[in-house]
Amino acid sequence: MRLVLLGPPGAGKGTLAALLKESLELVHISTGDMLREEIKKETATGRAAKKFIEKGELVPDEFVIRLIEKKLTSDKRVAQGYLLDGFPRTRKQAEDLDRILRQIQQPLDYVLYMESTLPVIIQRLGGRRVCKNCGALYHLHNKPSKKEKVCDLCGGEVYQRADDNEATIRTRMDVYLKSTRPVIDYYKVQGKLKKLDGDKDSEEVQVALMQIFHEDHKLNKH
Ligand code: ADP
Ligand code: ADP
Ligand code: ZN
Repeated sequence: MRLVLLGPPGAGKGTLAALLKESLELVHISTGDMLREEIKKETATGRAAKKFIEKGELVPDEFVIRLIEKKLTSDKRVAQGYLLDGFPRTRKQAEDLDRILRQIQQPLDYVLYMESTLPVIIQRLGGRRVCKNCGALYHLHNKPSKKEKVCDLCGGEVYQRADDNEATIRTRMDVYLKSTRPVIDYYKVQGKLKKLDGDKDSEEVQVALMQIFHEDHKLNKH
């Protein structure tokens, strides 16, 4: 199955992706994670992306589209199905993704829109913590690691992303409303959009999604 996860920062895209990756054996493709990896490796893309990410702005389309195109056309694992998390984030990215998928004849199955309200988003992003080593997601109150600042899964260091501060969160929300919201309508017109309540517990969201897959007989094809 080929899925896209859409929604504001903090809606729980990464968390749901981690759950689905396990249960459906899908490859998790997060442009945020890919860009942070480029920064870590100090590549040209990483250097260019860093200043945008720090400000909470979008990295220019051509950089992320290039990363995604390379991934979808050269990583053999994507044949087993994948989850795009945090991409596309602009109409241009959505159009280019359609072009790439037409070329490789792999249409998307669903675009999952995780709707979430502002107070929930702010609480989640303010308390979000991430494992530096494996990317596992934690939350100071909602999902603390067993041992402070140590990842339950790999023992790596659990840290707070530099862009999860109040001022940058505000910018990211503005950017979301202006640039990413239109992507929802783009997919609605295509009839691919399914809405999920991102304010709910992640397990509840997963159950609601499995119900959709069952109704559409998607799981027996897998
Ligand atoms: P969140 O989990 O809060 O939604 P991400 O990890 O997906 O954040 O993204 C972090 C930052 O990386 C974004 O604020 C943006 O600067 C950059 N980024 C990630 N994906 C994209 C994209 N598809 N287009 C442009 N910039 C992106
Ligand atoms: P996104 O990828 O959409 O930016 P994340 O999955 O990174 O969102 O979640 C943001 C923060 O909120 C993380 O700290 C995560 O542990 C927490 N979180 C995610 N989903 C839920 C949920 N359904 N209920 C409570 N906390 C959640
Ligand atoms: Zn870890």
